[in-house]
Amino acid sequence: MTAILFLGVFFGLISSGIAYDRGRSAVFWFVFGFLFHILGLIVIFLPRVARAGVNRECSNCKEIIKDKARVCRYCGSSAS
Ligand SMILES: [Zn+2]
Repeated sequence: MTAILFLGVFFGLISSGIAYDRGRSAVFWFVFGFLFHILGLIVIFLPRVARAGVNRECSNCKEIIKDKARVCRYCGSSAS
């Protein structure tokens, strides 16, 4: 029982961290990872989405980059 809870929290935290980085709901993906363990990691395979305050679209190459990025990691253009 304890091991199942530990696995739930473990995968929940990993899933929510990845989800947040990709502009998705950290709370939703924590719950999903908690309930479905390794299946929560499917968030890795979902495309990034632009979400205000977290990330945005590069004006040059249209890839999703972090909101505070000064240089686009994909095309190298100044992304201020
Ligand atoms: Zn770019």
